[in-house]
Amino acid sequence: MNTKILVVEDEVIVAEDIAGRLKKLGYTVTATVSSGEEAIEKIAENQPDLVLMDIVLKGHMDGVTAAEKIQSNTNIPTVFLTAYADDKTLQRAKLTNPFGYIVKPFQQNDLRVAIEIALHRHEIETKMRQALQDSETARESVEEKARRQNQYISMAAHELRNPLNAILISAEILEIDRTRQGDESQGRSLKLVHSATQKMNQLIDDMLFMGRAEAGKLKCNPLPINLVEFCQELLAQLQLGNEAQHQLILVPSDVTSAILDQQLLHCILSNLIVNAIKYSPNGGQVSLELEYHQGTKGDKEPIFCLSPHSLFTTSQFPNINSPSLIFRVRDEGIGIPETELGKIFEMFYRCKNTGKIKGNGLGLTIVKKAVELQGGAIGCESKVGIGTTFTVALPYVALSSKTELSKT
Ligand code: ATP
Ligand code: MG
Repeated sequence: MNTKILVVEDEVIVAEDIAGRLKKLGYTVTATVSSGEEAIEKIAENQPDLVLMDIVLKGHMDGVTAAEKIQSNTNIPTVFLTAYADDKTLQRAKLTNPFGYIVKPFQQNDLRVAIEIALHRHEIETKMRQALQDSETARESVEEKARRQNQYISMAAHELRNPLNAILISAEILEIDRTRQGDESQGRSLKLVHSATQKMNQLIDDMLFMGRAEAGKLKCNPLPINLVEFCQELLAQLQLGNEAQHQLILVPSDVTSAILDQQLLHCILSNLIVNAIKYSPNGGQVSLELEYHQGTKGDKEPIFCLSPHSLFTTSQFPNINSPSLIFRVRDEGIGIPETELGKIFEMFYRCKNTGKIKGNGLGLTIVKKAVELQGGAIGCESKVGIGTTFTVALPYVALSSKTELSKT
């Protein structure tokens, strides 16, 4: 049992008698004190499970005031113990919501019953409070989810309206041009229709991805892929839609194939490369580098660098010392302000230096989720006006010799 009890009683002989009886009943007496002030001190020293408190105490503080103070600072139940008390004191005592009341003189058994009932009631009340708190936390989390979903929906409605308007206007222009002839104008309108539809498609894809990720429905499905071919195709696709004509280059390594989830990898790399292009309004080079890290002391450099300009998510990548595939996307663009680096993976976050460059702030949230789903980590190093490098490390899982990483 080992229930610890503090006895607050100013009559030394009575206090000793109570302490003796409590010990006989199998309780541990943490201390016997004679004033409310001492009781508060002792409680701070050795947290008892219950306080047996005489109402009439010597000194400035009586038992009721001491119980009030104990109740406001701790969750320890008090049982009052007194020979007599006037009505006013009794009323005050009631207001402190005591867990029991024992009238002196009392039998040993009265003491035991009062203590056990008080402890039991306290246990039930604590459990009820905990259950209430848990349900409050659950309610808050449901509300937070609903709030986020609302945010998606209103953002989607807003963002889909712009390209939709562009499509409608372009279609009207095309209709007018059909009668008036005008190849150049038709070409422009068609281009607008094309890019607006692409934007709507991308947003719908992003929202579906986030919805599935939040519902825990996204799964990682690793299969062997030819890395070099995969990256070359991706760069070629992105180069096609890149009007600004950045130089997109692939820096391959000795790793040519791997076992990875193709869809997730596509989502990660395309978002990072699109960002690299988008946030380099003056053009320049965008490179995609591949690396294989053995995760041993033999590796030349650490995967993620540590500096005020860098950020990485190690918590999601405990096996940083095991073999990994590294993908780096480097650009020479506007960079990310040091103070905002910690926020870029947050949903809807956009840095202040983006100016007129459009975006929804969803891409990197999606990338982080896709990286985490594969047990990887993502890091970013950036300097404003110089450029940005995103590093993705995905764990290499040893598979059968047929499917192992092949090296040239
Ligand atoms: P979208 O949802 O269309 O991807 P977005 O590009 O604004 O919109 P994220 O890809 O999540 O959203 O990026 C978040 C923010 O991080 C960007 O708005 C931008 O401020 C910053 N950022 C991301 N990549 C780069 C980069 N390569 N260079 C500079 N800033 C970047
Ligand atoms: Mg983006």
